[in-house]
Amino acid sequence: MKVYKFGGASVKDADGVRNLRSIVSGEQDLFVIVSAMGKTTNALEKVFEGIQRSDTALSLETIASLREYHANIIDNLYHQHHTIEAVEALFDELESLVKAGGYRTEDAEAWYDRTVAYGELVSTLIISDYLNNSGVENKWIDMRKCMMTQQRHKDAGVDLEASTAPLRGAVEGASQRVFIGQGFIGAAPDGTTTTLGREGSDYSAAVVAYILDAESMSVWKDVDGVLNADPKIFPEARKLDELSYLDAIELAYSGAQIIHPKTIKPLQNKNIPLYVRPFGDKRKAGTVIRATANRVNIPILILKRDMVVLNIRPRDFSFVLEERFDEIFSLLAKYRLKCRLINNSAVNLSICIDSSWHLEQAMTALRNDGFDVLHMENMELLTIRGFTGELYNKYAFGDNVILRQATQSTLRIVRKG
Ligand code: ASP
Ligand code: MG
Repeated sequence: MKVYKFGGASVKDADGVRNLRSIVSGEQDLFVIVSAMGKTTNALEKVFEGIQRSDTALSLETIASLREYHANIIDNLYHQHHTIEAVEALFDELESLVKAGGYRTEDAEAWYDRTVAYGELVSTLIISDYLNNSGVENKWIDMRKCMMTQQRHKDAGVDLEASTAPLRGAVEGASQRVFIGQGFIGAAPDGTTTTLGREGSDYSAAVVAYILDAESMSVWKDVDGVLNADPKIFPEARKLDELSYLDAIELAYSGAQIIHPKTIKPLQNKNIPLYVRPFGDKRKAGTVIRATANRVNIPILILKRDMVVLNIRPRDFSFVLEERFDEIFSLLAKYRLKCRLINNSAVNLSICIDSSWHLEQAMTALRNDGFDVLHMENMELLTIRGFTGELYNKYAFGDNVILRQATQSTLRIVRKG
């Protein structure tokens, strides 16, 4: 079995879907994971915002435009007006959800998941229908029945053990040799729909590869492979041919947009190579991520924006790491703050975290526990793996630099955005 993953950008229009078809046709024993088309998830977040703010009109308008966007893709694929009943039914269901009301703030994250999951359900139904009608026989798989997650919404981890039997069951014994499943979504033990975090389809694909013991996983993207930097920010960016799992997980964690950070572990655990390939040209090799002792020989620069720095200090002057470590990090975990860098002195802890819905709550909890907390928003985290003296001098100084940390291999700088 091979696993292919197509992101939203690669299936944003009918040409993208036709291209997907050309990439998968002729393949046997293939599991295809697909994201929502184009910017659908962002639009669904807007639908959710409407639900949250009791702005039914906003939700319904957004659903109407999503219906139209998908209907256009379908018509274009079939070169005539074509309706897919199951897609219509999903949009009807979403509309009913909005109209029925019943939203509760306490369940915000469950409602979020329930709403945004429609993107992947719709995209996979369209793609499966089109492939079946154009000679690529396939089975549509409802990942809410196979991807079992922990009881947690908006950023759920997959329960590999619980997912094994249902996923294998869905594949084994099927007459089709190509499977189409949604990325990003799953189900919690209580049966509610969960999501794995924004851009989580890579992670879904890696889990599928792990459970089905795939020979490889490929992510088809709108770039030539993994670059050593984001070309929009660093124009001298170059493609890397090969990366080790270790470099890849460090890069993803530092904010390289190329691959979701949770993707690497399942693949590394079973030694499954990950190919990052350009969907525009099947012949190009892209980048392979696998077990290798080779280190990257050019510096890799990653800029992660929209970060927050918290300065935390115990009011009673206890030593911050020796005496208060547990308390602080339990609170961070409780509020699911993703900490990317820590720096301490005797009574001061600075951490750089992703911005989050729960920031205010976490700061209040810390203050109630006897800490002074200062926070700075709109920060950037620049990570340079394999930095040179020249790069150090170029980036480590300046009025906007708040914090710098260097190991032998990696320089990390927190600066004002
Ligand atoms: N559609 C989801 C998102 O845009 C998941 C993904 O693309 O991987 O975040
Ligand atoms: Mg997406």
